[in-house]
Amino acid sequence: MNRAEAGGTDRSCSQSGPFAAQPAGTKPAVPLPDSEFVRQELVTLSDLLALLYPGDPADPLLFPTPLWAARDPIDLLVAAILSQATSDRNSKRAMECLKHAFPGWKEAAAAPVRKLAAVIASGGLADTKAPRIQAVLRALNLHEGGELDFLHGLSIEDAFKFLTGLPGVGPKTAACLLLFGFGRPVFPVDTHILRILRRLGLLPVKLDASKAQALLSGLIPPENVLGLHLRLIEHGRRVCRSRNPLCHSCGLAARCRRQL
Ligand code: SF4
Repeated sequence: MNRAEAGGTDRSCSQSGPFAAQPAGTKPAVPLPDSEFVRQELVTLSDLLALLYPGDPADPLLFPTPLWAARDPIDLLVAAILSQATSDRNSKRAMECLKHAFPGWKEAAAAPVRKLAAVIASGGLADTKAPRIQAVLRALNLHEGGELDFLHGLSIEDAFKFLTGLPGVGPKTAACLLLFGFGRPVFPVDTHILRILRRLGLLPVKLDASKAQALLSGLIPPENVLGLHLRLIEHGRRVCRSRNPLCHSCGLAARCRRQL
């Protein structure tokens, strides 16, 4: 099936564009895109971004993220919490302070929460993140002996369900853990990715990140998940910035609904 047959080639049209028509009387608050159109566009987007940002996405020198530095899944879970709503630099520094201050996660879980907040202050939102980290660590000790290796034996759906059942662990953090810690093809949607896919016309503007993540899951070929995730973030940092995107020099401009 070509793109025209899939209902999405005519990018100049539309009022509805890639968004599927809603049956009369059942229109949801946010119209959802036509999944076949989005699936094909994501494959094309993966190829284009691989040309714009070549190299192995698993190379931390080419695609740096503090998540690569985490040594084990619990480190990674804590790193993902520390990375919420702050820069990579700040969250990396907070993680280093945390590892330096406590010999292990048991000690971090048992410390006074104010002490933990002081240790991770450089990561921002310390008063929120410290109790969140302790709640996760305590829940893991309680239920799973402090280990996460058992996630290897679960289906993606069950592992995702377990992780999002932990206190303070949302869909993006769970997806990051599964992708970076366990190599499972789960696509985390962060603010860069949400912004770019909205601008490209592949997501409705009003769809939030967790609904976007659920919508995109299963539409991206497993072998493209890591590369597409990291390259979109790179593109969001370098070109498709939140303010003043560099559309004149953007390699995706020809496909971008914002530019049409
Ligand atoms: S053309 Fe502009 S808005 Fe569209 S993806 Fe590129 S930088 Fe972003």
